[in-house]
Amino acid sequence: RAKESGRNAVAYFETTMQEAVSRRYALEQALREAVNHQAFELFLQSQVDAQGRPIAAEALVRWRHPQEGLIPPASFIPVAEESGLIVPIGEWVLAEACRLIARLNAAGRSLRIAVNMSPRQFHQPNLVRKVQDILAASGADPAYLVLEITENLLVEHTSEAVARMTELATLGLRFSIDDFGTGYSSLAYLKRLPVSELKIDKSFVKDLPQDLNDVALVETILAMASHLGFEVVAEGVETAAQFEFLRHLGCERFQGYHFHRPEPLTTWLARLAP
Ligand code: C2E
Ligand code: MG
Ligand code: MG
Ligand code: MG
Repeated sequence: RAKESGRNAVAYFETTMQEAVSRRYALEQALREAVNHQAFELFLQSQVDAQGRPIAAEALVRWRHPQEGLIPPASFIPVAEESGLIVPIGEWVLAEACRLIARLNAAGRSLRIAVNMSPRQFHQPNLVRKVQDILAASGADPAYLVLEITENLLVEHTSEAVARMTELATLGLRFSIDDFGTGYSSLAYLKRLPVSELKIDKSFVKDLPQDLNDVALVETILAMASHLGFEVVAEGVETAAQFEFLRHLGCERFQGYHFHRPEPLTTWLARLAP
């Protein structure tokens, strides 16, 4: 009896494994289709200064699925990263962002546009030429392009990563460290790299100003960043209390639902119009 139920358990396990594998496969195939048809949409979330004026925006991709509607990145970026599909997706996002920069440049607007760069994309051997080509094709001023990378991307393949960053920075663009505080890098280490900006991860902003550990952490990041000459963006600012508190600690840049949600490109442009 025990043997039989053991066999059933194994059979059940195998079935669910098979289901998971085929679901994963179906997702990858659908994503491949989406890449072929460029079925993605660019959303933009404004970043603001201490007066609430827009100073930059982050480009955030969504997958326009024929049946499921708009799918958020958390549901497909991991599969895209594993399968390598993040490379063409990331190039599409970068090209869209550069076209937007060129458009803003032409309209005399000086807003930076930040693009997320995944580890897989960052380690592509021809990345620098790709970025150069995309910038040239769009006519965007590279000074308005910000590449967001995470700390952990720098911890692996260090010397190669540093060389690559330096080469990209030479093109005139800027680097921002996304989700800062969740990885394993130090500010002293980042200071040796062409990094202009840190984005304090939203997990440290969520419980401000009640959580005293988060208060100490954010206070320290802001003080050290200011001494070392990094700009700092606080992510995930959802309340007036968080905003006031961060501003009181000397933070000058903010991103979060309290100010603006991610919006479709056309909505974002229309709101920016005046
Ligand atoms: P991220 O780069 O840290 O982007 C910020 C995320 O926080 C966005 O989620 C944004 O909508 C969300 N957010 C903004 N303000 C608030 C707030 O006040 N409260 C809360 N709770 N959340 C807020 P989204 O758009 O779902 O993107 C999730 C992640 O997917 C991004 O995190 C980024 O890591 C990745 N991602 C998005 N677009 C791209 C892309 O084009 N390429 C790559 N490689 N990754 C991307
Ligand atoms: Mg980001
Ligand atoms: Mg982030
Ligand atoms: Mg984050």
